[in-house]
Parts: sequence; structure tokens; C-alpha cells
Amino acid sequence: MKILKCNNPLKLKNKGNLEFVFIGTGTALGKKLFHNNCIMIKGDTHILVDFGMTGPEALRKSAGLAVLDIENILITHSHADHIGGLEYLALSKRYSVNNTHNNKLKLISTSEYRNILWEMSLRGGMEWNETNKSGKPLTFSDYFEHVKPKVISESPRLIVGTDFQGIKIEMFRTLHIPENAETFADAFLTFGIFVDNRVLFTADTKFDKSLIDLYGHKSEVIFHDSSFELNPVHASVQQLRQLPKTIKKKIYLMHYGDDWKKHNISDFGGLAKQGYRYIFD
Ligand SMILES: [Zn+2]
Ligand SMILES: [Zn+2]
Repeated sequence: MKILKCNNPLKLKNKGNLEFVFIGTGTALGKKLFHNNCIMIKGDTHILVDFGMTGPEALRKSAGLAVLDIENILITHSHADHIGGLEYLALSKRYSVNNTHNNKLKLISTSEYRNILWEMSLRGGMEWNETNKSGKPLTFSDYFEHVKPKVISESPRLIVGTDFQGIKIEMFRTLHIPENAETFADAFLTFGIFVDNRVLFTADTKFDKSLIDLYGHKSEVIFHDSSFELNPVHASVQQLRQLPKTIKKKIYLMHYGDDWKKHNISDFGGLAKQGYRYIFD
């Protein structure tokens, strides 16, 4: 894997190597780092993974891009550090006079999560901006083109997959919230992704050994959320330290606190840094 500083503006196309570009690597409540959002790029395809409250500024400052440049998006779950910029993004696509691109975002999601996203988060600010001839308000489909992955397995955890314009994505359920959820039946719907059979991006999850057992050995690199202190809804660095050395060396920590410089994480592969590109051979 090559690590390069982001050019400004970032090109949303490349020669065909899979790359992850972090526009932010911070926590939900951090004050310095942008929220943990990234862009996957391969050939002519890009997919923005999550877009939190800091998303629009992070896109500009870390990658020199504007929201109108974004065409495709995948949302892992509904916390504000993952969806807080989504209304702004979708309204900009629909209403900005400068938008020369397609005004609908392609959104990769299960049907169940699409409904949660619209009904529980987006509707309030997006439904009544216009009405159609019969006085009906806007719906999810006026802003988004839904890309629905196929079910790969339902048990022991739901895994769905799609080949999105050459980027192979498996979305798997994670155990993130509530803090006492020990099974998927008790947990709210949250996802992580496994990309091109080589990169694991956990998004937000508690420490989950069975997830590492499932994907760890197949992964060249694991981007894992992490907390420097014990945390009820995220994997902590202390917990990740218990993993075998061979796995730890693949782990690039992400979604970490603003005080990251104070911590020694030399037993891991490294820290994912905002404004950097992680390019796979
Ligand atoms: Zn988060
Ligand atoms: Zn979260």
C-alpha cells in the first residue's frame, strides 16, 4: 500500500487501483479532527463513505472538492458524524444552480436502512421543499437513486454485497449501539464494509473478535475505529492490542480522539490520517 498526501483538488478517478482517501479521521465529539469519512476511488468510480456534520468543510479542506463533485455515497449508520452533512449534500445536488452533474446521488444501502435513514433522519428537512402536481411532498427517490446490494448471508450476521461499477463491496452488520447490545437482534442497524476482497473498513463497532475472525486473514489492511480509552460503543486500543501481531500490523486506526499525538501505537500498522490517500497495488 502506498500512502500519499492528497493532491488539491483530489482527482475522483485513477488508473484503476483501489484507493481510500480520508477526509476526516476524528470521533463524533472531537473538536479538531474532521469526522471519520472517506472516499473510495477506483478507475472512473468513486464512493463517498459517510458524510458527517464536518463533511462539507472536510471535503474542501482535505481534498479541495465541493459537494457537487460527489456522485455516489454509502452510509454506514445514522450517527451525525456519518450523516450530518447528507441533507446539505442532497439539497445542493437538487437545488444548486451550479450543478452540472446528475442531481440524484446514487446511494448504496439495504432497503431496511434506506427506510430508517429517510423516515428517522432525513424527512424532516427534505420532504416538504416542493410538492408535485397533486400536492404530494418529495420522497427519498426524488433525491437518491437507490442501489440495493444482494443478500450474501443472513446468519450469523447479515452480509449484503454489490459490484458497484467495478468496486466490489460487502456490507456487514456491526455491533455498535446500544452499548449493552450483545447480539444483532438487540443492536440498531449499523454496517461496516469489506472492499475488493482485500480491505476491511469497520466503520463504527465495538470490539468484535468474530468480525476479525471473519475478515482479518483475508484483509491486506484493516481500517478499524478505535478509542484511546475504554469506550462502550467503539473498539478501544487496549482491546485491539489483544489481537495477534499479524493482525495488528494490518490495522490502521481511525475514528480516534484529538489527542492522538500523545499515544504510542507503534504495535499497529499505523494511524489513518485525514488528507491522505491509501493506494493499493
Ligand atoms: Zn462515528
Ligand atoms: Zn456511530
